[in-house]
Amino acid sequence: MWQWNKLTNSMNGTNLPFTNGLKNTFLESFNDQGDLHFAVVASQPLTKPVFVSINNLLCEELGLDPGVISSESMLSLMAGDLSELNLQPISLVYSGHQFGVWAGQLGDGRAMTLGELEVKNTNSGETQLWDIQLKGAGTTPYSRFADGRAVLRSSIREYLCSEAMHGLGIASTRALCLVDSKTPVYREEVESAATLCRVARSHIRFGSFEHFHYRNQPDAAKNLADYVISRHFSDWVGEDDRYGNLITHTVTATAKMIAQWQAVGFSHGVMNTDNMSILGDTIDYGPFGFLDVYDPDFICNHSDTNGRYSFKNQPSVGLWNLNALATSLMSLIPSELLVDALKTYEPTFLRVYRELMSTKLGLEEYRHSDETLINNLLALMAENQVDYTLFFRQLCYFSEDQREVRNLFIDREAFDVWVELYLQRLRQQDSSDSERSAIMLQTNPKYILRNYMAQAAIEKAQQGDYSEVNLLLEILQSPFEEHPHANHYAGLPPDWAETISVSCSS
Ligand code: AMP
Ligand code: MG
Repeated sequence: MWQWNKLTNSMNGTNLPFTNGLKNTFLESFNDQGDLHFAVVASQPLTKPVFVSINNLLCEELGLDPGVISSESMLSLMAGDLSELNLQPISLVYSGHQFGVWAGQLGDGRAMTLGELEVKNTNSGETQLWDIQLKGAGTTPYSRFADGRAVLRSSIREYLCSEAMHGLGIASTRALCLVDSKTPVYREEVESAATLCRVARSHIRFGSFEHFHYRNQPDAAKNLADYVISRHFSDWVGEDDRYGNLITHTVTATAKMIAQWQAVGFSHGVMNTDNMSILGDTIDYGPFGFLDVYDPDFICNHSDTNGRYSFKNQPSVGLWNLNALATSLMSLIPSELLVDALKTYEPTFLRVYRELMSTKLGLEEYRHSDETLINNLLALMAENQVDYTLFFRQLCYFSEDQREVRNLFIDREAFDVWVELYLQRLRQQDSSDSERSAIMLQTNPKYILRNYMAQAAIEKAQQGDYSEVNLLLEILQSPFEEHPHANHYAGLPPDWAETISVSCSS
């Protein structure tokens, strides 16, 4: 359990100890060349803010008192009134490739980092810094022509999905709280503005490094790499191979993250290089989607007309993005080392994906011959339009005498052929049906954030009723548990779910 380091709270004179616990190592580290990396910003607070949700679980993990977080002064702070913040908020600059095309400078157009919270692990004594960022608190020098705001709709989606991913065991940014307001924002129609407090180990992206490479500022890229190393990999400080270690780490962590996405049926939707974290955490939730029926060609982002970021393309896009990152590190790392690092992507991805898929099937280990078992199953699911999550959850209860999962298939004879292979494979291991089931139930979630669930929560919230957001938060944070009061969210999506269209508009 992480505990907020009380030492950093020694100045606690106000009712906002939170702000006294914040540091800004980023700002300090780039003191003399700060404006290359970030801009100090001012916020534009929301009017008549109310809390939609406070993430008590994250408060606990960060050692924060939910009573303090839910206070009036905290609400003002989270709605963008930064008068009690004793640090200068900053927005980071980055560039990136969007849909495969160099987009030039982007940057935090509607996000500002308030500071970093130092959290101490009481068991190991280790401390970790968490970026505390507000999204939607107004324009920054990187807003270009946009308004610096985030609508309630997209903020609810990010709030719930980041916690859902964490609940599924996938490294992700987190979300501490969500605030609604009466500030109008203009998208296709007038909507209300919200702020999301995002908590992350790092907000540094592939595009942060690309920015300096394309500007021919290798010293700035080097300083940024040194900052990442000193903050996250302090053991490597001063080592000759520190930059090589960094790219290798990013390659491995990204391969693992994308293998987890594929295994759980998650589609990110906008895998631009500015949306890829240097630590391999899932970041920037926009038009994401979880698979309902298993469809490798699934495109969750309505604006992605060519399907560049379709479900099945994610593993190769991950490598494409890592290539872009590697290119931007050429001034720091010899090209042979970059190539070696990139070569670890595919084997890492395949190893993790195969392990995850075999665990989903209740296999104790992956064997070479299991590739056919997995591929045949996925092909069958695609042909029969079988719901991905429901299938694996029902498979947890499968045995020779309990084959209810068969009913999910139209072509049941074809399923029977596959089941014979599966039974043969299960007989090769010692575990009993109940032992296998217990492990599978901790691997195959009962709940994922389907679009229609987010939509139901959004529609209620737009009427001022935030109960569904909080119900979904509760079940998604522990998606392998039963939560009988939410059983209605564990079945097939309703017919109207197909009409939901999600685009980049947020
Ligand atoms: P995204 O597609 O959400 O990752 O955003 C791409 C870029 O557009 C980033 O630089 C964002 O900060 C910026 N951006 C998106 N929406 C807004 C907005 N409403 N106001 C200012 N900048 C925005
Ligand atoms: Mg982004």
